[in-house]
Amino acid sequence: MGLMATLRAVERATRPADPEFVEAMERRWAELPEVVKTPGQILGRHGVGCEGTHGVFPKCNLACTPCYHSRDANRVRVDGPHTREQVAAQMGLLRKLRGPRAHTQLIGGEVSLLAPDDHAATLAVMREMGREPMSFTHGDFDQEYLTALALGPDGRRRFERLSFAAHFDKFMYGRRGIERPPSEQALNPYRRRFADMFATLRREHGVRSFLAHNMTVTPGNLDEGAGVIRDCHAMGYGMFSFQPAAFIGDERRWKEHYRDATPDAVWAEIERGAGTALDYHVFENGDVRCNRTAYGFYVGERWHPFLDGQDPRDLAVRDAFFRYFGKASFTGTPPMLLAAKLARVIARHPVTVAIALRWLARTVRRVGVSDLLRRRQVRSVTFVMHQFMDAADVAPAWELMQSGETSTDPKLRETQERLAACHYAMAHPEDGTLVPACVQHSVLDPAENAALRTLLPIVEVRTGHHPPIRPTRS
Ligand code: SF4
Repeated sequence: MGLMATLRAVERATRPADPEFVEAMERRWAELPEVVKTPGQILGRHGVGCEGTHGVFPKCNLACTPCYHSRDANRVRVDGPHTREQVAAQMGLLRKLRGPRAHTQLIGGEVSLLAPDDHAATLAVMREMGREPMSFTHGDFDQEYLTALALGPDGRRRFERLSFAAHFDKFMYGRRGIERPPSEQALNPYRRRFADMFATLRREHGVRSFLAHNMTVTPGNLDEGAGVIRDCHAMGYGMFSFQPAAFIGDERRWKEHYRDATPDAVWAEIERGAGTALDYHVFENGDVRCNRTAYGFYVGERWHPFLDGQDPRDLAVRDAFFRYFGKASFTGTPPMLLAAKLARVIARHPVTVAIALRWLARTVRRVGVSDLLRRRQVRSVTFVMHQFMDAADVAPAWELMQSGETSTDPKLRETQERLAACHYAMAHPEDGTLVPACVQHSVLDPAENAALRTLLPIVEVRTGHHPPIRPTRS
C-alpha cells in the first residue's frame, strides 16, 4: 500500500463516528417513548443498549429460586455446534438491526457447561459481529477451565480480554463446597475465589478481564446486600448488579413474596453498602423503572460518583460528553484506536480540554487530595439495579403491542412503556424480530425450550475441563 493509501486508511479507521453506529443510535432514539427521553438518557446518545443470547444452552447445574428459565430448560443438552450456529445467527440479526457495536451477554443456562473450545469459538463469533461479549455464569468452575478458555490448544492467548458476569446469592443451591449457603456472607470466599482466578489469569498469561457481580434480591436477603458490597467491593468486580426477583420463568421456583423487596428498598440497601446516596438520573439506561445505574469509583473504602447530580457544572459535563463524544463508540474499540478517535474529537473541539480539566479539579477536591495521595488507587465500580417484570404483566402488554394497541390500564401502559424502552434485547433470526428479555422469558421461552428438548435431548456428555455435571433439582 502506498503512503497516500495508508494515510487514507488511517484517517478512515480513526474517524470518531462510524456512520452506521450513528444511524443505529438515531433509530433507537426515534423509537424511544417520550417518557424516557431525559437529559441523562444514554440510549440513542452513546449506545443502543445491551443484548443477550437465548435458546442456546438453557441447562444449568445449580438450582436458583427464582429461576428465569422455563421448566424444560434443564432437559436440553448443552451442544457446542448448536450454540455456535444459533449465536452466529442471532448476532447477525443484532448487527443488522442494532448497528455495528454493542455489549452482548452470552447467556442461557450455565455458560461453563460449554466445552472451553466451544465457549471460545462462540465468543469469537460474537466479536466478529461487533459484539463485546460477556459470559454469564454461576462462577462454580475452576482455574483450569478459565485457562483453557483463554488460551488455545497451542498455549497462546485467544483473547486479550474476557468479560464475565458472575451470579452469586444464597438462593442458588448446589455450589461445590457450599451446597445450601446459610447467608450471603458465607459466600464471600467463593466470590473472592472467582475474582482471584482472573487475577491469576492476568498474572500468568496477560489476559485482562472485566467482572460483574450479579445478585438476585428477595425479601430473604434484602438486608444482606449492603454487606456484600462492603465486603467485596475491592475483590476485583467492576460492577455490582442487583436484580429484585420477579415472577418470571419456572413457577415451581417462586418461593417468596418477591414484590416486598421494592425497587426503592433494594436501591436504599445498595446505597447503604456504598455508604452514600446514589443518583440514578445522571445517566439513565432506558426506563429507570427497569434500570437504575450509578457510575463512580472507590478510593479506599469510599465510593464517589464520576459526576455529582446536584452540581449543575457536572451535569454540563455530561451534556458536553454526549455532544462531543457521544457518537464515538467505546464498546469493543481497542484502547489505542479509541485514544486516536478521542484525540481527533479533542483536536476539533479544544473546549473539551478545559471542560475536562475543570471537572478533574472539582473531582479531586471532592475526593480529597490527601485521600488520593494516601490511597493512590482509584477503582471504577458501577452499581446497577435491573428490575425484570412479572410474566403476568408482560404477556398481556406484549400481546397488545403486537397489534399496535396502547393499553388504557395504567399498569399495562407502564409495562408497554418499559418494553418499548427496553435496554436488553434478544434476537429472533427466524422471523427477523428483536424482543425484550422480559418477553423472551415470560412469553417465548416455554415453547422454545420445549422445541429444544426434542432437538437436543439429554445424553450423558463429558465436557473435558469441567467437573461432571451434577444432578439438577428441577
Ligand atoms: S423491559 Fe424487561 S428486559 Fe427490558 S430493560 Fe425492562 S425489565 Fe429489562
